[in-house]
Formats: sequence, structure tokens, C-alpha cells
Amino acid sequence: MTPSPRGPVAIVGGGYSGAMLAARLAERGVASAVIDRTGGFGLGVAYSTDFDGHLLNVRSRAMSALAADPDDFVRWLAQDHPRWADPDGFAPRRLFGLYVQDRLARVEAAHPGLIRRVTGRAAAIEPDGVRLASGETIVASAVVLATGNPAPKTAPASAGPSAVIPDPWAPEALARIGADDDIVIVGTGLTMVDMLLVLDAGGWRGRAFALSRRGLMPRAHKAAPDAPAAPVEAMTTGRLSERVHAARRLADQRGWRSMMEGLRPVTADLWAGADTATRGRIVRHLRPWWDVHRHRIAPDVAAVIYRLLADHRLTLTAGRVRAIRDEGERVRLDWTPRHGATQPPRTARWLIDCTGPGHDPAGDPLTGPLLASGRARLDPLRLGLDLDALGRVLNASGAADPTLFVLGPPARAAFWETIAVPDIKKRIEDVVGALTDA
Ligand SMILES: Cc1cc2nc3c(=O)[nH]c(=O)nc-3n(C[C@H](O)[C@H](O)[C@H](O)COP(=O)(O)OP(=O)(O)OC[C@H]3O[C@@H](n4cnc5c(N)ncnc54)[C@H](O)[C@@H]3O)c2cc1C
Repeated sequence: MTPSPRGPVAIVGGGYSGAMLAARLAERGVASAVIDRTGGFGLGVAYSTDFDGHLLNVRSRAMSALAADPDDFVRWLAQDHPRWADPDGFAPRRLFGLYVQDRLARVEAAHPGLIRRVTGRAAAIEPDGVRLASGETIVASAVVLATGNPAPKTAPASAGPSAVIPDPWAPEALARIGADDDIVIVGTGLTMVDMLLVLDAGGWRGRAFALSRRGLMPRAHKAAPDAPAAPVEAMTTGRLSERVHAARRLADQRGWRSMMEGLRPVTADLWAGADTATRGRIVRHLRPWWDVHRHRIAPDVAAVIYRLLADHRLTLTAGRVRAIRDEGERVRLDWTPRHGATQPPRTARWLIDCTGPGHDPAGDPLTGPLLASGRARLDPLRLGLDLDALGRVLNASGAADPTLFVLGPPARAAFWETIAVPDIKKRIEDVVGALTDA
């Protein structure tokens, strides 16, 4: 494939990343075909929810889809949903999905014929484009993989017991849970929070035992935003342990939320400048702490979780899953606590796998063959495909492929934080720049 500003770009995935990339390309006169297996163009997993209790975990003022127009989302809310238009507030994710869909539709109307929506599953990346599961090939000058977070890996050792809910995002996944049923949850992050919100709003009165390696749950935003505290030099150079000490000192002086906000604009640069050994230490030791402080939940969401904790209906525990087995109609979890004496197994009516995305590029049907053929390689920590600073895929020899890009959460090996809208929208501009300059 030779990149051409005139040829269509095939974008695999029509969530926020794929849809907004297509819109930005159309505004630059570049045609694209956006391929999405769900057909919910602009929504993806995060914004498909129709439950208004699922609030954004980023303040509205930072959720504009447009890097060049930071007030776009708040203006849209003020016009169509004024109740939610507080720039410092946390709007329902459903509304953000409507906003992205609205922007996509407006760009399509302004630039007719430049965006083709293709509903179907991309099955393979070919030399000349993308082959769909239907057998059709979308011929393309370049391909962008914007496939989002991979589905969760089934909780370890579960051989498919009937009481296990392996993919909590599947439609009606929680529908079988009765009002008084007890639950084991594996994973205590944002997915657990989302599931408990739905259950709580639906009148569930049972108890939940939630287990993860460290038993940490996401921290909460404060109602009013914290001013970012610019990172001090000791946080950006030198050994990781010294940087962490400097960060702790700044957090003590200015508050940890301000410290985290100050890190946000420089995170990708710090990650890019870190050597493999340092990155490895971050992934192994810092990551659980980073995640819960960086990806915070809205105050109203936190209030629900704190209530469940205070009522002893939710227990957070640090430990490791050893085995999951059917026990009649119930499920049994054998687990080892992180600290302290061995504990008896837990049984419950249901087990929900909330372990989050199951990254496995080598086993993925789209990226596995790219790795096997040498068109792509894994980054040294095996977090994902190895990419250059523009998001172009590096082949086995380390050369960047100007016709193959990764955008959004699967680009984490190169950028670390490329999950949330404020980060992805910058990356979209880089990809647009690379495709139109080429
Ligand atoms: C529950 C949840 C809540 C979140 N809340 C926030 C928030 O409040 N604020 C924020 O900034 N970020 C939030 N995020 C982060 C979120 O990942 C990003 O905001 C953004 O939605 C990522 O979009 P994406 O298009 O890259 O991925 P996705 O939204 O996952 O979209 C990827 C799309 O690709 C499709 N796809 C995948 N493989 C194929 C294939 N082979 N063929 C065809 N189609 C395929 C999928 O069906 C999906 O529609 C949240 C994430 C989750 C999961």
C-alpha cells in the first residue's frame, strides 16, 4: 500500500477514535471507510450505555472531541441538554455518545461521500486493505486499527461454570442476577464500579465480595477541580524511585489530585523518554496505583460505592484467584490473600469477571498474523504493537509502516495513556497529520 491523501483510509473500529478520525480526515478532504462490527458508529463500548447513572469520569470541559475547540462539548450540552452543561460536572456517558454521533453526522453532511460506514467485522489486514468476515475486501491506501479495548480475558482457571458472567459488557449480562443474590467480583476497577451501579439502580440488595491483586478501587474526583501542580524537575529525570519520592512530596504539598493533573500533559513524553527497564518497573509496581489515581470516578458514582462499602454489602480484598468451580447452582472461588493466613473458599450465586481488557496482540485475529508475518512486532514489554511517535506500526526490523497505524487504547505501548478522550484527541491529530502529509 502507498499512502495517498486521495485514497480511502480504512479505519477498523467505529468508536470515538475511529469515528472522530474519519471526521477529521473528511475535513481535510480525505476519504475513509469506517468498519465497525456493531454498527453503532461513534459509540464504542464506553458510550453505548443507555443508563444515565453511568457518568463520564472526565469533567465535561475536557471532553470536547475537537483538539482545536475545547468548549465544543460544553456548548453542545448547553444547547441540547442544559441540565448537564456545567463545564466542571460529569455528564452521562450516553450523552457523550450522542454528541460524537451528532458531530460525525454533521461532518458527513458537510463533506458528502467522504465517509463510508461499513457494518461488519474486520477479519484480516491484507496488503491492499481490510478483509471483512463476509469475504468483502475494503481496498485502502492505509489502515488504522482503532479497535478499542479487547474483551476481558475469562477469569483465570474458569472452565466456564454456568454461574460465571465472563463478559459483563455483553447485552443483558447482569439480567440473571436476582435482587438478593450474592456475588463474587474478580477485578476492583472501573468495570466493577460500572456493574455495581447498574445492579444498585436495579434494586439489587445482595452482597458482593470483590477481589483483585491489591484490592484497590478507583479514587474519586472532588466536586470542584484541582489546579494542576506542574511536575518538579526531580519527577521527570533520574531513577524511578527518586521520581516517585519527589511526586509524593509534591502530593503532600499540593494534594495528590493536583499532582496527577500536572502530570497529565507530560505523561506521554515521560513514557517515551523512559528506557525499557524503567517502563517494566512502572508496569509491574506503579501501574495499579497509577490507574486508580489517574482514572478517577465522578463524585456521585463514588457515593454509591462508598454507601455499599459502609453498609458492608461490598468488601474489597487483595488476593489472587487460584480456581473457579461450579458448586451446584453456585460458584466457588479458591483464592489466596495477598497478606495473612490462608482463607477458606468463597461461594456465591454469581461470579462477574471485571478484570478489564485482556490484551493479547499475538492471539488477536487481526494483529496476530501481522506479528507472525513480520509486518508488525511487539514492544519489548509485550503491551501491544510497537509503534513510532506518530502511531505507525514498526515492522520486525523496526521500520515504520506509513500505511498502518494504531489509535486509541491499543496504542498504549507507545504512549502509555491513550485511553481517555483528552489523550486520544491529540493522537487523532497526529494520525491525520501523518496521513495528509504523506
Ligand atoms: C466503561 C468505560 C467508560 C469510560 N469512560 C470514559 C470517560 O468517561 N471519559 C473518557 O475520556 N474515556 C472513558 N473511557 C475510555 C474510552 O476507552 C475512550 O473514551 C474511548 O471510548 C475509546 O474509543 P475507541 O474508539 O478507541 O474504542 P472503543 O470505544 O472500544 O471502540 C472500538 C470499536 O471497534 C470495534 N471493533 C473492534 N474490533 C473490530 C473488528 N475486528 N471489526 C470491526 N469492528 C471492531 C468495536 O466493536 C468498537 O465499536 C471509558 C471506557 C470504558 C470501557
